[in-house]
Amino acid sequence: MSRLRLILGDQLNVKHSWFREPERSASGDVIYVLMEVRSETDYVVHHAQKVLGIFAAMRGFSNALQAAGFRVHYIRLSDADNQQDFIGNLRQLINRFGITRIERQQADEYRLESLLLAAPEQLGVPVRVVDSEHFLTDRTTVAKKFAIKVPRMEFFYRELRKQYHILLDEKGQPLGGQWNYDQENRKRWKGSPLLPEWYTLSADLTELWSEIQGCGVKTIGQAQAADFPWPITRAQAKAWLAHFIVTALPHFGEFQDAMSTASSRLFHAGISFALNIKLLHPLEVIHAALNEFNAGKVSIATVEGFVRQILGWREFVRGIYWSRMPDYAHANVLNHHRPLPRWYWNGDTKMNCLHHAISQSFAGAYAHHIQRLMITGNFALLAGCAPDEVDAWYLGIYIDAFEWVEMPNTRGMSQYADGGLMGSKPYAGSASYINKMSDYCKNCHYQHSLRHGENACPFNSLYWDFHARHASRLSTNPRMAMTYRLWQKMSEEEREKILAQAQVYLERLDDL
Ligand SMILES: Cc1cc2nc3c(=O)[nH]c(=O)nc-3n(C[C@H](O)[C@H](O)[C@H](O)COP(=O)(O)OP(=O)(O)OC[C@H]3O[C@@H](n4cnc5c(N)ncnc54)[C@H](O)[C@@H]3O)c2cc1C
Ligand code: SF4
Repeated sequence: MSRLRLILGDQLNVKHSWFREPERSASGDVIYVLMEVRSETDYVVHHAQKVLGIFAAMRGFSNALQAAGFRVHYIRLSDADNQQDFIGNLRQLINRFGITRIERQQADEYRLESLLLAAPEQLGVPVRVVDSEHFLTDRTTVAKKFAIKVPRMEFFYRELRKQYHILLDEKGQPLGGQWNYDQENRKRWKGSPLLPEWYTLSADLTELWSEIQGCGVKTIGQAQAADFPWPITRAQAKAWLAHFIVTALPHFGEFQDAMSTASSRLFHAGISFALNIKLLHPLEVIHAALNEFNAGKVSIATVEGFVRQILGWREFVRGIYWSRMPDYAHANVLNHHRPLPRWYWNGDTKMNCLHHAISQSFAGAYAHHIQRLMITGNFALLAGCAPDEVDAWYLGIYIDAFEWVEMPNTRGMSQYADGGLMGSKPYAGSASYINKMSDYCKNCHYQHSLRHGENACPFNSLYWDFHARHASRLSTNPRMAMTYRLWQKMSEEEREKILAQAQVYLERLDDL
């Protein structure tokens, strides 16, 4: 009897109980299988760095397992007998190795979980599903809870703080007296303190890149194959995290919402790829930050802000995803259907904020949260772009994009297509927000202070047009009362000019 243990490309968790004795034996009955397949490279057009990063990390993981004495079978993209999908390859391996049972970890994406749930019937062997041992919440429990009522993220997060005893005093109250320090975390960055250096990695992945290209995989963005900048092994990911904790974490909180042409990352961690493919465990990231706080090197506001992203938001979006799929993938309560403007695919727009956020994403497969939410996401929301297109764009372009985390953030948080599960109001902002939090506006073709007229910033008229269009749904939301009061306070003539300007821009979105 031989068992096959399937490891997906985002399940590179060397700490998984699978890899403890006594299974470690090159001659044992357990064979670990990893496979590069076209069904994964082609379900959306991915950034070149995402395909490269995942395959390089899978190959590294496979080598590490073999070196540790495990029996591993690795299928490369270019292998002649690669069936290019999971079921086809598994069928072949069952015959080849006399497999009588398959074991697999829960897949994080609905698409893959559904496909693999059908495996026992299609393959004629039993399949045992185990936890990926990565997340801090049990997905079935949370999904059941969220299916009845989705709590606000803040309360969900407080419960997890209590459960994991994080940043609490001896009475179980929040350390420092507050659960949330968001108010202190909203500064613009004006050049000081100095930017941290990125942790430098430069793996040569040119051979792998030639193989991927040779197979005809379609990608977007720059590959940077000769000098690959992202962590692809656990050792690299740990070193990257340690570097971030010392150099950037101390200022993470203050400048969490800031944007700058001087840096794509500012004081953010850049760890989402390593986390999502499970080279890092969320708890080890949280503890690394807490240690720095306990050593007096970072403030409570910063450490709380950082912990909230991982313990709070990351687990929360997963709960939303698993409680609402598959319907979530079609949510579009605002009935938005416009195509994404063509410059989302090359950054070629006169709007400096969008030009920067998009060009940077094509070059580096990365943008930080506020760029994703308040620049690219915000514009697509205000312009009424179709959530399906917006989703596909985000799922493709970022190295950390896996549907369970990408979709609630995009469709829910940034496009409000779920009607308010992710956030109590749409994240819509005008140029005044962008100008407050960035240096983008000062060198822009458009005037951030103008709502209409020549070179008026498109964000302004589109912002008001969005609110006017959706007044019947949004104006009764108490959190939006102030916005609608401001709109009502404007003269009729001013409102007409703004709406007319928005129409002009909406008719020529591709040329903005
Ligand atoms: C429209 C949109 C799409 C997004 N798509 C993705 C995606 O595909 N994959 C992804 O991992 N994140 C996504 N996010 C969340 C967030 O933007 C990224 O996790 C973050 O920018 C990654 O960079 P970082 O590691 O420097 O994060 P930091 O700002 O340094 O935060 C540290 C970590 O906290 C976690 N985190 C922070 N915010 C969130 C969040 N809202 N949801 C889940 N985890 C969070 C991430 O694991 C991140 O690595 C998206 C956000 C938006 C608004
Ligand atoms: S003026 Fe408008 S378009 Fe230009 S950078 Fe500012 S917000 Fe963006």
